[in-house]
Amino acid sequence: MDKKQILEKFSQLVSIESVSTDSKRHKEILKAAEFIRKELIQLGCQVNLYQKDNCPPLIIGKYRPSFAPPSPKWLRRPSKATEGKAIGVYAHYDVQPEDPITKWKTPPFKLTVKNGKIYGRGTADDKGHLIQVLTSIKRLIEVDKLDNNIVCIFEGEEEISSKNFEELIKKDPSLKNIDAFYVVDMGMKAKNIPQIFYGLRGVIGFELKIKTSEIDLHSGVFGNRVLNPAQLAAELMSKMVDGQTHEIKIPGFYDDVKKTSKEEIELLLKSNSTLVSKVYPALDINGVVSGYTGEGFKTIIPAEALVKFSIRLVPHQDHKKIEKLVEKFVKNNLPKEVEYEFREPTGSNAFYTDFKNPFAQKTAEVFEDVFKNETLFNRSGGSVAAAEILQRVFEKPVILIGFSLPDDNIHAPNENFDEEMFWKGIVAIEKIFAQ
Ligand SMILES: [Zn+2]
Repeated sequence: MDKKQILEKFSQLVSIESVSTDSKRHKEILKAAEFIRKELIQLGCQVNLYQKDNCPPLIIGKYRPSFAPPSPKWLRRPSKATEGKAIGVYAHYDVQPEDPITKWKTPPFKLTVKNGKIYGRGTADDKGHLIQVLTSIKRLIEVDKLDNNIVCIFEGEEEISSKNFEELIKKDPSLKNIDAFYVVDMGMKAKNIPQIFYGLRGVIGFELKIKTSEIDLHSGVFGNRVLNPAQLAAELMSKMVDGQTHEIKIPGFYDDVKKTSKEEIELLLKSNSTLVSKVYPALDINGVVSGYTGEGFKTIIPAEALVKFSIRLVPHQDHKKIEKLVEKFVKNNLPKEVEYEFREPTGSNAFYTDFKNPFAQKTAEVFEDVFKNETLFNRSGGSVAAAEILQRVFEKPVILIGFSLPDDNIHAPNENFDEEMFWKGIVAIEKIFAQ
């Protein structure tokens, strides 16, 4: 398969507008799934699509080495002296919306190669990685070097918080035979500087509505006499987190936080000095709505206030437990007579894997070989739900890798994948699959 053919496939996938958050484009999601299904079948994979209701399908494609005896049971280990492993590889085929479209210099759904960059929505997040995975498998098959079982796990609702992923992944019991999972949805530290992520923060989103009356009240008549929900919200939030030190004041909040060893801190400092955004939790107000915000003045006491806030969690904190602590804190810190409503929070735990596991160490060697630079080990302040779910459900090492660069504009206009890193990434994945 030459470069032109690979870019042609990549271009076809990018041209499908698989924006998962846009229900009007659900057909495009199905079209992308069908495109990938066909590609996997062409590689000789056994493919299954799993869906709940009408959700974007989870695609599972299993490649079994050609020398393995024919068997209806996939993932049977080849009976060769060099026993093959089963390697799981995750990527997602849904993308973020393209707006604001006027900021794009090239059409978002038309793959455009320019000045060493491959432009288009989803090129870096995450269709480029998905194409790299498919290409690596194909190339290894062509030269008869693929002795391992490869299980592709391609999700279609990563950008809408992977809400069905856990349920769908459990529908295939053979996945428990996988030795290690690679989540290919991350980026490099810089051009030719590879990194492996072994930790991610979890996240919980909260929505709190405080209500003190049925309608807005006249501040001249009712001022000093009634509670003001905007004031209550401000007081509550300032009790919950210290705006200067960022310390979270909820009792018990830090009880389970994983301690970071000296060795790990040294490792992390090599890759980035902003440790604080990776190893500590954070609470942030994301939005506040209350009262009159139009032009001029309206002298009222608002009837309601709405606060949206989120907590980033670190390893060993349990999102369900933290949710309960937050709810208790709100109950104890609002006046008894005040009505409030908590929308069921949506949360995910942090992800953490031992960076010393042999798969991670071997991958670091592969990267050094391909990119000619030391591999950094890193933790991200962000969250990838699938990584935490794969690890919790299957209890195997999960290694987060990727080849996009920090200026790849993911989720933004002019998203791109560096051409050189795209081709080198394919070589790296080949080496991982052939290990
Ligand atoms: Zn992604």
